Amino acid sequence: MSNEISSAKTHRVEIDRTKCCGYGLCAALCPEVYKLDDDGIIFIESDLVSDDLLEAATEGAEACPAEVIKIIS
Ligand code: SF4
Repeated sequence: MSNEISSAKTHRVEIDRTKCCGYGLCAALCPEVYKLDDDGIIFIESDLVSDDLLEAATEGAEACPAEVIKIIS
Protein backbone atom coordinates (compact mmCIF):
# COMPACT_ATOMS: atom_id res chain seq x y z
CA MET A 1 0.00 0.00 0.00
CA SER A 2 1.43 3.35 -0.92
CA ASN A 3 1.49 6.02 1.66
CA GLU A 4 1.61 9.07 -0.52
CA ILE A 5 1.67 12.39 1.19
CA SER A 6 -0.32 15.08 -0.56
CA SER A 7 1.91 17.73 -2.04
CA ALA A 8 -0.82 20.36 -1.67
CA LYS A 9 0.63 23.37 -0.01
CA THR A 10 -1.28 25.40 2.50
CA HIS A 11 -1.22 29.12 3.04
CA ARG A 12 -2.04 31.05 6.14
CA VAL A 13 -4.71 33.69 6.33
CA GLU A 14 -4.89 36.41 8.93
CA ILE A 15 -7.90 38.59 9.63
CA ASP A 16 -8.46 41.63 11.79
CA ARG A 17 -12.09 41.48 12.85
CA THR A 18 -11.88 44.89 14.50
CA LYS A 19 -11.54 46.48 11.03
CA CYS A 20 -14.34 44.52 9.37
CA CYS A 21 -17.32 46.66 8.39
CA GLY A 22 -19.51 43.81 7.25
CA TYR A 23 -19.83 44.33 3.50
CA GLY A 24 -19.62 40.60 2.96
CA LEU A 25 -17.61 40.75 -0.27
CA CYS A 26 -15.06 38.28 1.07
CA ALA A 27 -17.71 35.69 1.89
CA ALA A 28 -19.43 36.22 -1.46
CA LEU A 29 -16.18 35.53 -3.33
CA CYS A 30 -14.83 32.71 -1.19
CA PRO A 31 -17.47 31.27 1.14
CA GLU A 32 -15.31 28.19 1.74
CA VAL A 33 -12.84 30.27 3.74
CA TYR A 34 -14.61 33.45 4.82
CA LYS A 35 -17.75 33.18 6.94
CA LEU A 36 -19.92 35.89 8.41
CA ASP A 37 -21.26 35.82 11.95
CA ASP A 38 -24.75 36.96 12.97
CA ASP A 39 -23.61 40.57 12.87
CA GLY A 40 -22.15 40.16 9.37
CA ILE A 41 -18.58 40.27 10.64
CA ILE A 42 -15.99 37.96 9.13
CA PHE A 43 -14.69 34.87 10.90
CA ILE A 44 -12.68 31.89 9.71
CA GLU A 45 -12.90 28.31 10.90
CA SER A 46 -9.25 27.66 10.08
CA ASP A 47 -6.38 29.97 9.27
CA LEU A 48 -5.06 27.49 6.71
CA VAL A 49 -6.01 27.77 3.05
CA SER A 50 -5.19 25.00 0.62
CA ASP A 51 -3.70 25.63 -2.82
CA ASP A 52 -6.97 24.94 -4.59
CA LEU A 53 -8.72 27.70 -2.65
CA LEU A 54 -5.87 30.19 -2.82
CA GLU A 55 -7.11 32.02 -5.90
CA ALA A 56 -10.62 32.56 -4.52
CA ALA A 57 -9.25 33.41 -1.08
CA THR A 58 -6.94 36.01 -2.63
CA GLU A 59 -9.80 37.51 -4.62
CA GLY A 60 -11.83 37.78 -1.44
CA ALA A 61 -8.93 39.40 0.39
CA GLU A 62 -8.32 41.91 -2.40
CA ALA A 63 -12.01 42.80 -2.63
CA CYS A 64 -12.21 43.76 1.03
CA PRO A 65 -12.52 47.56 1.21
CA ALA A 66 -11.29 47.60 4.80
CA GLU A 67 -8.13 45.53 4.18
CA VAL A 68 -9.11 43.06 6.87
CA ILE A 69 -7.62 39.97 5.25
CA LYS A 70 -3.98 39.08 4.65
CA ILE A 71 -2.81 35.94 2.92
CA ILE A 72 0.61 34.82 4.02
CA SER A 73 2.19 32.37 1.63
S1 SF4 B 1 -15.07 42.15 2.73
FE1 SF4 B 1 -13.84 42.92 4.46
S2 SF4 B 1 -15.17 44.35 5.51
FE2 SF4 B 1 -16.44 43.08 4.20
S3 SF4 B 1 -17.13 41.36 5.49
FE3 SF4 B 1 -15.28 40.72 4.44
S4 SF4 B 1 -13.64 41.20 5.85
FE4 SF4 B 1 -15.40 42.36 6.51
